[in-house]
Amino acid sequence: MRRTLFESITHGALTEAAPGPDDAALAELAQALDRAARKRLGRSLSIRQVDAGSCNACELEIHALNNAFYDLERFGLRFVASPRHADVLLVTGPVTKNMAEALARTYAAMPSPKWVVAVGKCAIDGGIFAGSYAVAGGVSHVVPVDLHIHGCPPSPTDLLRGLLALLEHVGSGGRVI
Ligand code: SF4
Repeated sequence: MRRTLFESITHGALTEAAPGPDDAALAELAQALDRAARKRLGRSLSIRQVDAGSCNACELEIHALNNAFYDLERFGLRFVASPRHADVLLVTGPVTKNMAEALARTYAAMPSPKWVVAVGKCAIDGGIFAGSYAVAGGVSHVVPVDLHIHGCPPSPTDLLRGLLALLEHVGSGGRVI
């Protein structure tokens, strides 16, 4: 213990410095998302998030959208507790067999128009959990997916870009990615 304390004093912090935030690009992206939501829906965008079996790293990136740096509620992006208030169903992880029915019911409870966004590699095809006895498959095995956001995990900026692409291109009824 004494040695560990001594080493922590003499060696300093071992963590890498965080990348510098690009405030202007982030603000521009978030404002574009807000504009697209108001044009498409006439109001802000409401998101219901469901963890269908992820490792939780995707959730950490999604949670970051609400932190003091991103603070996306100021641009009209908000997470809601009930699927009945949601426009977008944001799903992370492979869909475990235990969560398949809950996910299908959540989708059924959402009013139309509604869109499903599968976040992360696992949500696309099961990722590192594919083939497990406990996994039903990617999100599209259970509910129709309008957009896949790639990454393991995708960054908050990737999430914003994905939501913006969804609002700008899905109106025709097509799938984005
Ligand atoms: S895509 Fe990566 S970060 Fe997201 S749930 Fe799967 S393993 Fe975890």
